[in-house]
Amino acid sequence: MAGKLYVVATPIGNLGDLSPRAQQTLAQADFIAAEDTRVGAKLLNAFGIKKPQVSYFEHNRRAKGEQIARRIEAGESCALITDAGTPAISDPGCDLVEICAGRGIEVVAVPGPCAAIAALSIGGMPCGRWCFEGFLSVNKKSRRQHLEEIREEKRTMVFYEAPHKLLRTLEDFYETLGDRPIVLARELTKIHEEAWRATLSQALERYRQTPPRGEFVLVLAGAPDQGEKETEQDPMELTAELLEQGLSLSEAAKQAARQLNLPKNSVYRQALERFSEEK
Ligand code: SAM
Repeated sequence: MAGKLYVVATPIGNLGDLSPRAQQTLAQADFIAAEDTRVGAKLLNAFGIKKPQVSYFEHNRRAKGEQIARRIEAGESCALITDAGTPAISDPGCDLVEICAGRGIEVVAVPGPCAAIAALSIGGMPCGRWCFEGFLSVNKKSRRQHLEEIREEKRTMVFYEAPHKLLRTLEDFYETLGDRPIVLARELTKIHEEAWRATLSQALERYRQTPPRGEFVLVLAGAPDQGEKETEQDPMELTAELLEQGLSLSEAAKQAARQLNLPKNSVYRQALERFSEEK
């Protein structure tokens, strides 16, 4: 085994998920490139593997990537691991693979756990066609842009989220995409594992009362088919009825959006254009 980069998936919780081939690859590689060498050491110790590690993480990836590639070119084999799951999937690794592939180095997959795939496989949502959306940005502008881009997405969407950002993400989904089915897959392969099938409004209610804990994958239903929407009431017609009942414009738009399962912002925008002129 020489002169190759092995991209090795590691457990997302349950150590029993490290495959025999992954163990063998880690044991036989000349060195290991780990996102966090302390996490790497714990994994290696658990399997009685002694191996030199180098750190390869988000902020040293450029310089380290070149160094690692040079060592591989000189004949060493490297196993790339991250803190959990499959390297390069919302994790460092993509660039290293790109550098190595660009230099003609053979890159070998040692597949295994991946939180997105695990959640999708147990979600019970359509998974013939689906898309991975990773983390929503914390930057306001790119977050808004991301949400706008997925507004009409029909495929099932898979997101990663940290517990302290979950509520805001659910709120933004609800505001932009309307109420929809969602599967909240939490702490997969760990003691408190849970796959909760709910709607966005139910999830909001639960997590407004009880702060979320653990790591989450969100499997979100795609936009309903246009055909389904056409059979529904016109949102402006319903807004008009609600206005007549004495609701304010924003409250009427909000209620109409909720009842028709449409994005609140876009119904409000349409209502503003339509009804503020009439007044
Ligand atoms: N590369 C990893 C993979 O293949 O799954 C993902 C790394 S990403 C930095 C970490 C995110 O994955 C977490 O914030 C969470 O959304 C998700 N995740 C990781 N482990 C998980 C688990 N056991 N249960 C649920 N989600 C998990």
